[in-house]
Amino acid sequence: KVFIADSGSVSVEIAIKMAIQYQHARGETTRTRLLALERGYHGDTLGAMSVCDPKRGMHHLFSGILPEQFFVPAPQTRFEEEWNPDDIAPLRESLEKNHKSIAALILEPVVQGAGGMRFYHPEYLRQARALCDEFGVLLIADEIATGFGRSGKLFACEYAGISPDIMCVGKAITGGYMTLAATLATTEVAETISRGEAGCFMHGPTFMANPLACRVACASLDLLMENNWKEQVSGIEQGLKTGLSRASELNGVADVRVLGAIGVIELKDPVDVKRLQPACVDRGIWVRPFAHNFYVMPPYIMRDGDLAFLTSNMVGALAQTLGE
Ligand SMILES: *Cc1c(COP(=O)(O)O)cnc(C)c1O
Repeated sequence: KVFIADSGSVSVEIAIKMAIQYQHARGETTRTRLLALERGYHGDTLGAMSVCDPKRGMHHLFSGILPEQFFVPAPQTRFEEEWNPDDIAPLRESLEKNHKSIAALILEPVVQGAGGMRFYHPEYLRQARALCDEFGVLLIADEIATGFGRSGKLFACEYAGISPDIMCVGKAITGGYMTLAATLATTEVAETISRGEAGCFMHGPTFMANPLACRVACASLDLLMENNWKEQVSGIEQGLKTGLSRASELNGVADVRVLGAIGVIELKDPVDVKRLQPACVDRGIWVRPFAHNFYVMPPYIMRDGDLAFLTSNMVGALAQTLGE
């Protein structure tokens, strides 16, 4: 069942409300809180902000009005590493201890975006799914950044072969032309909510499902399928790997990683944006670095030549800024 929303953050608010109404309808009235991962990012409205990383974000500015949620450390096993079974232990412990208060676990599947551009092992996601089932907790997958092919799969959950109970999509849904997002729920979640006290899901702002935005989304999704996104994304992945690899020779660089059409250069120190950004503009590219990461998520239609221009100038601008 699909519930249309007007931005990614709102789709997360909706997901949180769905999870709480679902638990309430099942008589689980103490399950009103969320469990989330450190390093996560889910948006800027109050409910969404409450499940973002509590240490590195702006939580302290809003303490007292943000709902208090449960957090576990971010997954540590990297995407390409061998799975470390200890990685899931904190999640199990938190669920064992707190499940009677938890409506849902919310996470970004496989790629933690704005909270650090981290790619973690899909086994974490597979085991998280199983733990949610064991403890009667819903799984909310925030695919706002990863959805529609970005990670190399149409949805990042496919890396783990799981499906969530609730899923948020946004960003690429309209290819960036208009604001639109959606919250998807299983029939079980939707029908349980509708059997509850309220009789329906309690959310209905005036301009949800703006018809023009929906038409743009349909056109954009048609293009995605017609253009053979899989080939486009794997071409970009190859181009990013080749183009960014030289950055790993720089002393100031901690890590270079690529997954699907996401390329990240992680620095040892926070990026000096005031110097790096003008250096990029001088070279004819526009990139927005933040914290330790100098990263790009190119549009799928980008041609090989443009991608090579982008990556070589990223490395060049970085070398210049680092004085290497
Ligand atoms: C961008 C993003 C959001 C918020 O979406 P907005 O449309 O900016 O409100 C939520 N979750 C993730 C993972 C995102 O990348």
